[in-house]
Amino acid sequence: MTLRVKGLRKIYRMGNERVHALAGVDLEIAGNEFVAIMGASGSGKSTLMNILGCLDRPTAGAYELNDRPTHKMRSGLLAQIRNEEIGFVFQSFELLPRASALKNVQLPLQYSRHYFTSSRSRAKMALERVGLGDRMGHKPNQMSGGQRQRVAIARALVNRPSILLADEPTGNLDSSTSNDILKLFHELHDEGQTIIMVTHEEDVAGHADRIIRLRDGKVMSDCSTSDDPIHRAYMQRAAEVMAHRAEAGT
Ligand code: ADP
Ligand code: MG
Repeated sequence: MTLRVKGLRKIYRMGNERVHALAGVDLEIAGNEFVAIMGASGSGKSTLMNILGCLDRPTAGAYELNDRPTHKMRSGLLAQIRNEEIGFVFQSFELLPRASALKNVQLPLQYSRHYFTSSRSRAKMALERVGLGDRMGHKPNQMSGGQRQRVAIARALVNRPSILLADEPTGNLDSSTSNDILKLFHELHDEGQTIIMVTHEEDVAGHADRIIRLRDGKVMSDCSTSDDPIHRAYMQRAAEVMAHRAEAGT
């Protein structure tokens, strides 16, 4: 078991108002799953990802990561767990603009006891893994969006995390670059990586094996991609459009 969430709630206070960003979420995700989290804007996806990624704590409920109760941890220990177990990829890449790809990827290792002995070689390996072995000295502004996201993925992987969390990882990329990133996710998944990815695009979610849909801070549905009725309807519609185009010769 990689993660187990029970009765998870997150309430934000806005003046006198209370926003129930998560209103009781139960989930179990095993090692080496590839999961997509979907839902309308404001349904709680990022709030859930931030808690799963140990960046934030729930108001109530339990979150066990590799059988360790993170909801009971002090912030120092939580930060350590995050550093060891979690790799985070964001829509906006979040790279240091003035640092080389190599320096960006080395960054998460700076708190590691291996920093002085092996951080450079580990960062190089991570960049080679994502196909950027020949771009290590480049800065983010010397790279394309797809290359920047691959640097961010190398940075997420450099600590060999048990979970890769990606919040709209292809949201800023064109479709062919998105496909390169998704192909990389498939390769990592085949190598044993657990991947949890937020997306609002059905065709991106279709790369995952399981789709969890949130609505108003609750799990609306949770099933394998091939059994998900919304996804099946979308795929059928897409196939019809393709067939129609082929018939029309466009
Ligand atoms: P999503 O990622 O699905 O768009 P979020 O998790 O960002 O949704 O937000 C869920 C709800 O919580 C929304 O109503 C949002 O306005 C609210 N929310 C998120 N973060 C905060 C915050 N820091 N303070 C107050 N309300 C927040
Ligand atoms: Mg969000």
